[in-house]
Amino acid sequence: MRIANSRGRLTLLTADGGSDVESASRGRFRSDPHEIFAEWPAFRAWARDHSGAGAVPLRNADLGPPSPRPRQVFGIGLNYRDHAAEAGLALPERPATFTKFPSCLTGAYADVRLPSAKVDWEVELVVVVGVEAYRVAEQAAWSHVAGLAVGQDLSERVVQFAAGGQFSLGKSFPGFGPTGPCLVTPDELTDPADLEIRCSVNGEVMQRSRTSEMVFGVPRLLCELSAILPLLPGDVIFTGTPAGIGATRKPPRFLRPGDVVESTIEGVGTLRNRCVAEP
Ligand code: ZN
Repeated sequence: MRIANSRGRLTLLTADGGSDVESASRGRFRSDPHEIFAEWPAFRAWARDHSGAGAVPLRNADLGPPSPRPRQVFGIGLNYRDHAAEAGLALPERPATFTKFPSCLTGAYADVRLPSAKVDWEVELVVVVGVEAYRVAEQAAWSHVAGLAVGQDLSERVVQFAAGGQFSLGKSFPGFGPTGPCLVTPDELTDPADLEIRCSVNGEVMQRSRTSEMVFGVPRLLCELSAILPLLPGDVIFTGTPAGIGATRKPPRFLRPGDVVESTIEGVGTLRNRCVAEP
């Protein structure tokens, strides 16, 4: 199953486009894309039998974040060996965790305002929680996942490293969390733990890896995070970026107004975000 947030309404994707869930379910499920995560198992069961009647073509510009108002948004640093190496840092023994504040989330095709000349790209696999997870074992972790999306963990590198490290602020400017284009349930993918992930800027490939290269895979991340606190339906986890960011290039390269960032994960989709100058 694939769902999207189209103009703020929960939409089931079909071969013909998108079917409005509130209409198609005759009001059984509400249109708010956030509220559906509280009813995830019931919604999955309904969607299995839904034919997709009444589908209409979707417009890219209408797509918002698949989980638009998560209570918690986690980011994981240094979760690919090659990225830790380019940053000159040792691999952590536990997932290096920060938050992106939820107000940074935006849609798959949204323009992104650049607050400075030191904004960098980080393509990431995004996990959305479907069933509350507290102290879950790795073997049970996937059953708590609603689905996967593509994410960009845009990062302002000066703020990020100021005052001993301000990861949460440096990665939370408005528009710094494009996610989407839709949410894909893990059963749609041949192997949800091994997907090609790549990022290009103006068509030039900057990052290319596979999610199987993660140091801590999705089950381990859910296990480690939920050992500390409950992961709530709709929560979003940015699972880390592979090598090829701009800051460690020689010379360093950052995003400029007019640049187009394309972020793709095999079988999940592509984000296309244009950078614009701060007005
Ligand atoms: Zn990141």
